[in-house]
Amino acid sequence: MLDARRRACLEAMGIELWRMRDAPARPAVHMVERDGRSLSVPESVSDPGEPVSPALDPGLGSLSWEELQVRAAGCTACDLHPTRTQTVFGVGDRNASLMVIGEAPGADEDRQGEPFVGRAGKLLDAMLAAIGFSRDQAYIANIIKCRPPANRDPHIEEAAACQPFLHRQIELIQPRLILSVGRVSAHNLLGTDESVGRLRGRLHRFDPGGIPLIVTYHPAYLLRRPQEKSKSWEDLQAAYRQLHQA
Ligand code: URA
Repeated sequence: MLDARRRACLEAMGIELWRMRDAPARPAVHMVERDGRSLSVPESVSDPGEPVSPALDPGLGSLSWEELQVRAAGCTACDLHPTRTQTVFGVGDRNASLMVIGEAPGADEDRQGEPFVGRAGKLLDAMLAAIGFSRDQAYIANIIKCRPPANRDPHIEEAAACQPFLHRQIELIQPRLILSVGRVSAHNLLGTDESVGRLRGRLHRFDPGGIPLIVTYHPAYLLRRPQEKSKSWEDLQAAYRQLHQA
């Protein structure tokens, strides 16, 4: 898949050294252990292929995109609403096969109302382009929709309050793959506290719905530690294979 255009994208990511290797056979699907943390531990499904069940909050589970967006814009369910400029709902194709889920809006996102528009966003765009997606062809969202003060990690209650919105978005999109970027995203989506280094490199499932999920490093982390980009590229290749398998 590494045509000239993608090679150019990789170069834009600053990873000229990356080379496509023959894909090693991926292990069979691993289900992730739930650790009982109160944060984001959805119900397991016995059959990973079963359709996505209604979002956890029955009040949101039947809402259309438009209704959901209006509800999110006026949400006061956690302590973040007084300090936000606006909620950052999500952007992209609502029928996308690929959904990218980050952590939380930063200052740029809070100002513009769109996820991943700062420096990390530029890198995310290049990462997506490397596997053939423009920003508009994927759907991009975050664990929480309001900016935490001083860009701190979201608190457990904040992520829990926002979870029904994200779950309803996932349910509406029904992506073929979720790309979970960074620790906060992975911990919330998988209900685990394992490091990204341990979570990456295998296929997980997001419940409800048993949706395939791949974990990779957050682009902001990659900006700080460019030496990890090669691992992220491996994750992107795994995402590409997952999306294109029969
Ligand atoms: N980091 C994130 O996780 N999400 C954004 O929207 C921006 C930066």
